[in-house]
Amino acid sequence: AMVLNELGGKISAAIRRMSNNTVPDETVLKQMLSEIARALLEADVNVRAVQQLRGNVLSAVDISSLGAGVNKVKLIQKAVFDELCRMLDAGHKAVPLKRGHGSNVVMFVGLQGNGKTTTCAKYAYHYSRKGWKTCLVCADTFRAGAFDQLKQNATKAKIPFYGSYTETDPVAIATAGVERFRAEGYDLIVVDTSGRHKQEVALFEEMEQMTSAVKPTDIVFVMDSSIGQAAHDQAAAFRSRVDVGSVIITKLDGHAKGGGALSAVAATRSPITFIGTGEHIDEFEPFVAERFVGRLLG
Ligand code: GDP
Repeated sequence: AMVLNELGGKISAAIRRMSNNTVPDETVLKQMLSEIARALLEADVNVRAVQQLRGNVLSAVDISSLGAGVNKVKLIQKAVFDELCRMLDAGHKAVPLKRGHGSNVVMFVGLQGNGKTTTCAKYAYHYSRKGWKTCLVCADTFRAGAFDQLKQNATKAKIPFYGSYTETDPVAIATAGVERFRAEGYDLIVVDTSGRHKQEVALFEEMEQMTSAVKPTDIVFVMDSSIGQAAHDQAAAFRSRVDVGSVIITKLDGHAKGGGALSAVAATRSPITFIGTGEHIDEFEPFVAERFVGRLLG
């Protein structure tokens, strides 16, 4: 399902060609790095990040100083793997959810169309399958049809939900929904908020009001991977206004620029917790850099 398979395929092919030399020298190593760099740039990974990867692999391997007994191929493979992981690592962990200490309230924010409502349902479903008592609150009063969409997803996944067709104040809905589900002892309350089109002042103000009303355990920022490395500035802008604790990247099944988006978000030091790989509720998976790179390289 992943379009990133193409990127993974190119990187693996470059590594394989390098491995054909039992004793690779500097020329072979540099050739492999050029091929990898090209593949990363095609996936819209930032030029500086690509250069850094190249430089780091060269210094980690330090090929000219290696003795004859060293398995150079293995060493190079490991250095590439480590550097790809580093590129996708935010450097710190997301806020962990804890079960058995009252309700976790997780608020979802993001621009309209990025997949926020779909992702709320996927996220709730993920935890409900792990046995958590989970529910959904629709506080998106801006987009017509948002409540119906959430209701439909929630019903299909058998997840209790809260929303209103008449109340127009999203903060009032969120407050009422969260209060009710807290009282009912839910482990996880997922709150979907308004998205709108741009990073408007009104959107940020609403996020701030929402935050003080529901006191979220975590705020999840949902981003569409198709914007590639432009994800860097968008993630940074949201983080400067809202206390984003984790990021979920969607639509990694459909965009060649997915690698660029992932590395750009990691560069803002925002931990990526899950990725969306399709429209269906279970096309969603936890994001762990090592596992992701391992699979990418097959
Ligand atoms: P919102 O406006 O941010 O709430 O966005 P929606 O949840 O309504 O999603 C917008 C569109 O993106 C819908 O057609 C979703 O089915 C689609 N979508 C969401 N996540 C994914 C994903 O991971 N992969 C694909 N292919 N489509 C997705």
